[in-house]
Amino acid sequence: MKQSLWINGECVETKEYSTLLSPYDQSLIAEVAVAEKNDVRKAIEAASNAEGILRSLPAYKRAEILENVVELMKENKEECAQIIAKEASKPLTAARTEVDRTIMTYKFSAQEARRIYGETIPMDAAPGGEGRVAYTVKEPLGVIAAITPFNFPMNLVAHKVGPAIAAGNTIVLKPATQTPLSSYKIAQFFHEAGLPKGALNVVTGRGSTVGDVLVQDDRIKMITFTGSPEVGKQIREKAGLKRVTLELGSNAAVIVDENSNLKEIVPRIVTGAFAFQGQVCISVQRIYVHDTIYEAFVEQFIEHTKKLKIGDPLDEQTDVSAMISRGDQNRVLNWIESATKSGATLALGGRGENAILQPTVLLDVHPEEKISCEEAFAPVVHINRVSSMEEAINFVNESKYGLQAGVFTTDVGRAFKAAKELHVGGVMINDFPTFRVDHMPYGGVKLSGMGREGIKYAVEEMTELKLISFKL
Ligand code: NAP
Repeated sequence: MKQSLWINGECVETKEYSTLLSPYDQSLIAEVAVAEKNDVRKAIEAASNAEGILRSLPAYKRAEILENVVELMKENKEECAQIIAKEASKPLTAARTEVDRTIMTYKFSAQEARRIYGETIPMDAAPGGEGRVAYTVKEPLGVIAAITPFNFPMNLVAHKVGPAIAAGNTIVLKPATQTPLSSYKIAQFFHEAGLPKGALNVVTGRGSTVGDVLVQDDRIKMITFTGSPEVGKQIREKAGLKRVTLELGSNAAVIVDENSNLKEIVPRIVTGAFAFQGQVCISVQRIYVHDTIYEAFVEQFIEHTKKLKIGDPLDEQTDVSAMISRGDQNRVLNWIESATKSGATLALGGRGENAILQPTVLLDVHPEEKISCEEAFAPVVHINRVSSMEEAINFVNESKYGLQAGVFTTDVGRAFKAAKELHVGGVMINDFPTFRVDHMPYGGVKLSGMGREGIKYAVEEMTELKLISFKL
């Protein structure tokens, strides 16, 4: 299969193509176009030319286009899941869940398109303001550049494309090099759904080449980026006065208080730690368990982790497959070795078998070890003991990240204390930090980013507030 760029409603060939290989078995998936700077400029031009058309498209038509995409995705669910499973090595069952969530994200976007409204302002609340009727409207920004990561190649694209179209913007989308096919599939759905040409363009190629053009071109009004803090920081520094939202990394933690029902919560936390090989921005990486139940928790956690099926992402039974690259696997193996050398106990895993890093459980890891304080983005978790909620909260907050945290407790006072004191974008009481439904506000503090997604909240970021005042 050969995949060209998608610009102005057409496939566009490039001089160079790169081979897309399966992270699991290195088999060839496709030849994918590598955009040069000029190709990216053409995509921006197409989006810029379509700006006026989208701006004047009535809300119900934008909603209808999004509804059509929902229908197309429903009709092609299995094909979409297979694309994700192949290019990301995401276990098929998890890929199917991602497709279902993507459908929800576009559904919410269609609904949101119909309810973008402002408010009336009581101008006479200030002396000199009387005799006026004033109201606000939310206008589209224009061209938005969306840069997305490999780990949710359909749903995280939907979190940018859905609200952007809902709000009447046009888009240049740059997906991750390892997962381009999901984005091209979505562009095809939008085309069939009746989106005007040029409103959604997809350009693949080297992050730095494509990214630099997008970030520096004055026709782009906003950069919406999901990915690593390193790249996010560079984008923010180069973006000048463009609006920027950054959804970045994390080393999410969960607190397990005394009296927790281990039978119920342990399988849930195992899922939070190892789903999609721990390559979820809110994967459970750090677990702080109360002294009184620490031993029992560790025993049950290991027992459940051992039940995970390891193997081919296309196998229906597989829970854990290959990480996105061998380089990432080696990075994490080094971090595990460093932690054990400095006194941590390796309770399970810690080995790579072919492309797959075995689900790994470490105990008593020093907080300054990389496997604790950096983002692992791998099937590795560590369990440390704490003697109070206060101590656990301090450990969670020591992180330079702050996306979401989970707290299991039966004590309502401690639950409220944690909710108040945890410095993160979202606190999940009696659930793991990995919980997300697609309409809730979602985003981080500290190195985890700035701005919020969750369709209604993304629409806020993707519109400009205008005031209109009538002097009577
Ligand atoms: P990444 O390496 O930062 O890449 C993200 C995107 O940025 C890719 O499309 C990449 O293109 C592009 N890129 C690379 N260099 C660039 C540059 N100089 N300028 C502009 N764009 C550039 O991240 P990843 O490995 O794909 O994804 C994992 C990260 O995403 C983790 O840190 C994870 O926590 C984070 N994440 C956060 C959230 C959230 O909602 N907070 C959700 C999911 C993932 P190439 O692929 O071509 O390099």
